[in-house]
Amino acid sequence: MAKIAVLPGDGIGTEIIEQALRVLRALELPLEIETAPVGGAAYEVHGHPLPESTLRLAMAADAVLFGAVGDWKYDKLERALRPEQAILGLRKHLGLFANFRPALCYGQLTHASSLKPELVDGLDILIIRELTGDIYFGQPRGRRTAVDGHFPGAEEAFDTMRYSKPEIERIAHVAFRAARQRSGGKGGKVTSVDKANVLETFQFWKDVVTEVHAQYPDVELEHMYVDNAAMQLVRAPKKFDVVVTGNMFGDILSDEAAMLTGSIGMLPSASLDANNKGLYEPSHGSAPDIAGRDLANPLATILSAAMMLRFTLQHAEAADRIESAVGDVLSAGLRTADIWSGGTTQVGTRAMGDAVVAAITKKSIRTKS
Ligand code: NAD
Repeated sequence: MAKIAVLPGDGIGTEIIEQALRVLRALELPLEIETAPVGGAAYEVHGHPLPESTLRLAMAADAVLFGAVGDWKYDKLERALRPEQAILGLRKHLGLFANFRPALCYGQLTHASSLKPELVDGLDILIIRELTGDIYFGQPRGRRTAVDGHFPGAEEAFDTMRYSKPEIERIAHVAFRAARQRSGGKGGKVTSVDKANVLETFQFWKDVVTEVHAQYPDVELEHMYVDNAAMQLVRAPKKFDVVVTGNMFGDILSDEAAMLTGSIGMLPSASLDANNKGLYEPSHGSAPDIAGRDLANPLATILSAAMMLRFTLQHAEAADRIESAVGDVLSAGLRTADIWSGGTTQVGTRAMGDAVVAAITKKSIRTKS
């Protein structure tokens, strides 16, 4: 029986994970589900955002379903104890180097996008972000002298950007293979995003990606500077197919791509290791501003559970059922506040979960027009 470690985390994390678990249960699959605290919730109990017991559970599981972590009240903690460090720790310990963020615009939501409907109608792009290298895993000098997470009296602080050749090679292979798979064997296109005109690390990135491309002659490769990519994503997003980039640029561009789809509340993500074991989570954070108010959109988390069933647990049919249930619910006009435009019935987190469960179990979805 497949084992899933469920880590709800903080803020809206617990609310959205609850709905994803209801959806998984409705599918009646043979899954063993165990929950553990992470982030601020774990810090409160164990004094650390990623306690040994949580890490052990995640490492022993076939897949991890993660909510979100963080709250501004932890901003004063030293960096190593802040909730967000749990995500970095999990990525590192589980060897999760490839982050997949599909930006897919549901036809029913083209009006919720901040762009004109014709720019996003039919949008289906995949952002692949390298997750375990780059400036986020460099050596911040300030860490040695920080007091309460800040640097009183300091004159400077810096972080170090670096990538090794094997790190770039493996993510480039992932991107070229994904482009091939998405195009149904026709090749597809990879846009490698860098800042080679200014940063040595990204000239190296560009050279290595070009070298790996020689093994995928059927896939088109283009290189684009990150500033141009940020612009093209809002000018003509459908020109992209697969975008591959480093950790920091990917962090920023995938949030930008999220808005093309209507709301960050719609965007699932997968972070995979070399054997397709993965951590699945919504692309958004813990949204402390709306936490505990039944306002959060649970669909990104529910769609992350679908990605988990497809990529790691080999239950593609069950994943299809979830994705088509989400489509049915949107077609029926149900919307959480963040995607309200074009809807007929505004619902909260739990009612959206109810509707997806009902669509899965083929009960009628109640709408009022
Ligand atoms: P956020 O993604 O939590 O929220 C940004 C905005 O989007 C907010 O207005 C929020 O209300 C809204 N939003 C987010 N998810 C939503 C949903 N499902 N439904 C409806 N609206 C939603 O980003 P932030 O405000 O910059 O960060 C809040 C906390 O989350 C911080 O502590 C940050 O470090 C943390 N964070 C965690 C993760 C993670 O756990 N993977 C990722 C990003 C940020």
